[in-house]
Amino acid sequence: MLKGNTAIITGGSRGIGAAIAKKLAAAGADIALLDIGNSEQAAEVIAACEESGVTAKFYECNVADFNQTKAVVTQIGKDFGNVTILINNAGITRDGLIMMMNEEQFDAVISVNLKGAFNMIKHCSRLFIKNKCGRIVNISSVSGLSGNAGQANYSASKAGLVGLTKTVAREFASKNVTCNAIAPGFIATDMTAEITAENNPLAAQIPLGRPGTPEDIAGAAEFLVSSPYITGVVLRVDGGLGM
Ligand code: NAP
Repeated sequence: MLKGNTAIITGGSRGIGAAIAKKLAAAGADIALLDIGNSEQAAEVIAACEESGVTAKFYECNVADFNQTKAVVTQIGKDFGNVTILINNAGITRDGLIMMMNEEQFDAVISVNLKGAFNMIKHCSRLFIKNKCGRIVNISSVSGLSGNAGQANYSASKAGLVGLTKTVAREFASKNVTCNAIAPGFIATDMTAEITAENNPLAAQIPLGRPGTPEDIAGAAEFLVSSPYITGVVLRVDGGLGM
């Protein structure tokens, strides 16, 4: 269904990004996988994507770095002619109550989670306009919609992504470029490895009775990149947590 498209996925070496890469490859998209490190794990994801018969390549890149992202997107544009999908998934946490949070913790999270998405969208927009099609999905979080004590930096970055998503959706709508966000709830990955129903009351309150899996998010990402008439939405994928 996505044959003929190339998808850029940031933070794709593990967790949700890796699941999205595999899902989009299974649907026929060629894959440009970006990550700041993790080349061993990236190699496994690339191999899994190639099993679907698509072309997949790894690019080492810090999404927070404006010039690095510009150079990488230019290179991907040369390597693959048909870049039409961007999944802004790379994200970090540096948790702490505001009273304890320092400037470095705040700036680091905003730089990766929010500025990283801006960098990628800005540089990819040229390719989308050239290809007369773009499908952008930003991975936000329920923390950005409801707030979460101990995550002022993270919640602000994820709420910022919602504003960025809606603005990009409006700015590029006339160019057949859509932009949507997914707000995952509690998803079982390395990022949440220390959270359990015992130590986190939110995890115990999920109506569907289980944490989400990276594949749950990947399914939503595939749906949004395959939906040309949906733009500017924030899709909660949280097992009913936000009801
Ligand atoms: P994860 O397992 O920690 O994976 C994040 C990936 O992003 C890693 O491969 C990491 O690389 C990469 N990365 C970090 N900083 C980067 C940078 N500056 N440039 C490029 N890549 C970078 O996280 P996850 O749980 O899969 O989460 C993926 C996204 O979903 C994040 O945006 C997260 O905020 C969001 N989310 C997750 C949950 C959840 O419950 N897990 C809930 C809501 C939203 P390294 O391994 O080299 O650091």
